[in-house]
Amino acid sequence: MKKKDVKQISAREVCSITFRGFKLLYHMQPRAILTGVLLAIWGALTPYVGISFSAQIIDELAGGRDPERLWTLVIWTLCSAAGIALVSALLSRWNNAENEKMWSSYRHLFVAKNLDMDFVRIDDPETHKMLHTIEQNDWGGGWGLMQILRNLNSIISPVFSILGGIVLTITLFTSRVPESAGRWTILDNPLFLVGIISVMVAVPCVSSLISNKAGAYYAQNSGNHNLANRLFSWFGFMGHNKSAAANMRMYRIDRICMTHSLDKTGLFDSHGYFANLNRGKVGVLKMASGTVSHIFTLIIYLYVCLKAWAGAFGVGGITQYISAVSIIAGSVGEFLSIWGSIRNNAPFVKLFFEYMDLPNVMYQGSLTTEKRSDKKYTVEFRNVSFKYPGTDIWALRNVSMQFRIGQQLAVVGKNGSGKTTFIKLLCRLYDPTEGEILLNGVDIRKYDYHDYMDIFSVVFQDFKLFPYTIGQNVASAEEYDAYRVKDCLVKAGFGERLAEMENGLETYLYKDRRDDGINISGGEAQKIALARALYKDSPFIILDEPTAALDPIAEAEIYSKFNDIVGDRTAIYISHRLSSCRFCDEIAVFDQGNVVQVGSHDSLVEEDGLYRELWYAQAQYYTE
Ligand code: ADP
Repeated sequence: MKKKDVKQISAREVCSITFRGFKLLYHMQPRAILTGVLLAIWGALTPYVGISFSAQIIDELAGGRDPERLWTLVIWTLCSAAGIALVSALLSRWNNAENEKMWSSYRHLFVAKNLDMDFVRIDDPETHKMLHTIEQNDWGGGWGLMQILRNLNSIISPVFSILGGIVLTITLFTSRVPESAGRWTILDNPLFLVGIISVMVAVPCVSSLISNKAGAYYAQNSGNHNLANRLFSWFGFMGHNKSAAANMRMYRIDRICMTHSLDKTGLFDSHGYFANLNRGKVGVLKMASGTVSHIFTLIIYLYVCLKAWAGAFGVGGITQYISAVSIIAGSVGEFLSIWGSIRNNAPFVKLFFEYMDLPNVMYQGSLTTEKRSDKKYTVEFRNVSFKYPGTDIWALRNVSMQFRIGQQLAVVGKNGSGKTTFIKLLCRLYDPTEGEILLNGVDIRKYDYHDYMDIFSVVFQDFKLFPYTIGQNVASAEEYDAYRVKDCLVKAGFGERLAEMENGLETYLYKDRRDDGINISGGEAQKIALARALYKDSPFIILDEPTAALDPIAEAEIYSKFNDIVGDRTAIYISHRLSSCRFCDEIAVFDQGNVVQVGSHDSLVEEDGLYRELWYAQAQYYTE
């Protein structure tokens, strides 16, 4: 957070952002707030019980020395200490459990927001940057929404400490120095009362102002902190990254990581940025704040000891008053510094809400897609052009084409020619920059988004399976129709492997959730992903390089029964292997964002064009 961001935010805005944050936290887990408040009050008041008993014991030792009274006092002290510790532990346990729930609700906010976000936003680097900054602020410096919870506890605790302390210190001012003390009776002068109270308020004010200034330096430098933290954790976890392990070893990536990372994380080391800050401005401020507090303690010590010496109260009183006044002073300081902490935290909470308030910009229509029993739909791209957000390059330019009903369409072309973009637009992950896409003659933007998504099953190139059972993965649901799941797995070529599995469809994938989970090969994963697309049973099935990870036999098997697999659905099939597109009714050839050729394999291979060029480029390795 830049200095200007912290400064520019008005006190009113600080209050309204913080209050909004508080309301959200309360809404998420009211019990975490309530137990936190209870714990803070309990923690603030209970120290005074021990202080009060200790003072009475010291007074008794220095005065009457009545063994029976001493025993009673000691037993009361021990019992109260044990009782307090027990209640504190219980409260603390309860509060921890509620805080855990608060923490997961907080994480859930991000999950829910990200899932609800337009894909175009999720794909936008700016969104990632924002999310990353929020996370780093939180993990690195503790700034953000959850800091409001900590601040709340830091407000409650000093307020009750001050109240408890006042109760215990009243007698410091009301106990009078006996007349026999002569000129020391001056200590009873009300001016002392006024003076001591003024010092009690003024000194912590100065001290906390100074330490707030020091805290502001950290808040203003959160950018540096985040960068260092990011690199530090990136490097720290690199060694745990299974998917990077082979490349790390092969190319000794650790050497680059090490130099780069140590260089940047130097921010944390003894000569780094933060160490220098502590040695410089912040160190001086902290020293000044500490000195002011100590001067205050000295004044109080002097006053209390002089009053005891003059005979206003016994030695036990010294312990009681010094402890209580020190706690009051510390609490006043803590209370005052809370404003600084709230103020410093406000820009981080603001960023959090900016993220949460990011609007969905895609137009959401309300038309339902016609549920056709024959699964026949027509789709038309009408003069569609598209640029990815934040870029100036046309990924697609003036694409016009229509799919025939129930058609099997292959989309081929070189890398970067726009094939995946074409699919993403069709599935409405993005809206076209120009032109329109029509489903049964209606602009797809006019349909209800989820309803529209329901008509597609896509196996993306970078598909993901999840650490649930195979059955749940295929069905994308907890409960599933085992017969249908099996049928889809068999169609996708996973039947034999499934038969070998002791737990069948109940076998867990990966080890994340279960020790007996299995690891599968890339090809096997691709078959399960294909089965998942089949299980969804949508009228459109889109396969992006669906056999890239399969061995030649499995690939041949899939192609041989491709018609059976896709059934009467409209299938769109992206591939680099032109031989695998031959069985499609129509082939669209993409080049530099345009559809340059459309036709069947037989006609295109005869035509002088890109398809023929690509075909022969691959075929030369298989023919003499
Ligand atoms: P293909 O699937 O044919 O390999 P793509 O549709 O993935 O090609 O890419 C088409 C063009 O769009 C390429 O120039 C690519 O660099 C660009 N592109 C793809 N994805 C993004 C993205 N998320 N942001 C910006 N540009 C992108």
